Amino acid sequence: MADCIFCKIIEGTIPSEKVYEDDDVVAFLDINPVRKGHTLVVPRQHSKDLAGTDPAVLSRAITAVQKVAARVTAGVGAEGFMMAVLNGPAAGQEVFHLHFHVIPRSKGDGAGVTFGPHEAYGEGEMAEAARKIRGA
Ligand code: AMP
Ligand code: ZN
Repeated sequence: MADCIFCKIIEGTIPSEKVYEDDDVVAFLDINPVRKGHTLVVPRQHSKDLAGTDPAVLSRAITAVQKVAARVTAGVGAEGFMMAVLNGPAAGQEVFHLHFHVIPRSKGDGAGVTFGPHEAYGEGEMAEAARKIRGA
């Protein structure tokens, strides 16, 4: 897609440090890594976010994420990894071509994701939220 930085990286018109590619995805290093080796796994087929992606594409992409994550973890000698997808501007998504962040992690690396601040449910609100989600 024109004007999509990740499409240009996939085409090779913008340089990147690629670490893996197959028929479905290209994986390259994030230029602003949370930890060294932080990799983005990007489906070749453009879609703006996870919600708008064909489930068949998604299925193949997540299979590639599993493979890339194993290589990233082993490659940088990490103890584990975390995977994140930011969906939409409100969630902090900045590049609107679906990508999976794969971030190598080791105990004490200080790179933890913390969820918060937390919301507390009032009386009946948890059941109400569940009812709305089930009905959506
Ligand atoms: P997100 O907030 O999930 O949309 O994350 C976009 C990510 O893309 C950020 O972590 C950026 O550092 C990364 N990024 C942006 N431009 C490039 C680029 N040219 N090469 C590699 N990573 C990039
Ligand atoms: Zn794109």
